[in-house]
Amino acid sequence: MSPTAHLVEIFSAIQGEGPYVGERQIFLRLGGCDLRCRFCDSPHTWRPSTHARVEQTPGERDFQQVANPVTGSQILAWLQRQFQGGRHQAISITGGEPLLQADFLAAWLPVITAQIPLPIYLETGGHRPQELAQVLPWVQVIAMDYKLPSVSGETHHQAHQAFLAQAVAAGVETFVKMVVDRRTQEGELATALAMIRAIAPETLVILQPVTPRAASLAPTPAQVLHWQQLAQDYLPRVRVIPQTHPLLGQL
Ligand code: SF4
Repeated sequence: MSPTAHLVEIFSAIQGEGPYVGERQIFLRLGGCDLRCRFCDSPHTWRPSTHARVEQTPGERDFQQVANPVTGSQILAWLQRQFQGGRHQAISITGGEPLLQADFLAAWLPVITAQIPLPIYLETGGHRPQELAQVLPWVQVIAMDYKLPSVSGETHHQAHQAFLAQAVAAGVETFVKMVVDRRTQEGELATALAMIRAIAPETLVILQPVTPRAASLAPTPAQVLHWQQLAQDYLPRVRVIPQTHPLLGQL
């Protein structure tokens, strides 16, 4: 029997993070996450839910409730409807942590990519290298997080190291995103940057100042300038890009 998936939502929106900011993408958001980042903007995805929502018309937010778990055939049909109804530049697979459902993705990404001619953009916490191996052949871009412990409350340096090494060895375009806030420890930043330089010095690193919310501590302008300069001491490709979808009122 084909594996099923715990879905959160499918919708069409504007990518709000990283170097592909501004692209129109179809978002496939899967449920469940094994991390608890302090800055998480989607805690509703942490536990698989009984229901998901699926947009009927790209960008219209005319969601239909569906029961979880869902089948691969259902997801394929919903993605095809999005693809046929609008102009998109990629399918973003996000969460939660989408690699918790690597068995499902490994079974269905070959079918989805054969039917829908869009690149697969994987947004992940970057801490599950074994699961990454299951899906790598069907992924064109990996948006990988490095969770700085002082900011996220999560510590996964070795897993991030193995993850990046695997992605680079497979030749898949991979960039590393680090959320920074006022508490960012410079030593942690340096450790992460040295690791990235040792594996693939051409890697693009995105420093993403945390989006100001009730519990988040936005970095000062001086901190951001300083950390970018620090990062440039390690790597040539460093950009500072905040989340833009909250500014645009996007999902
Ligand atoms: S990995 Fe992503 S979804 Fe999970 S807690 Fe962290 S920010 Fe939230």
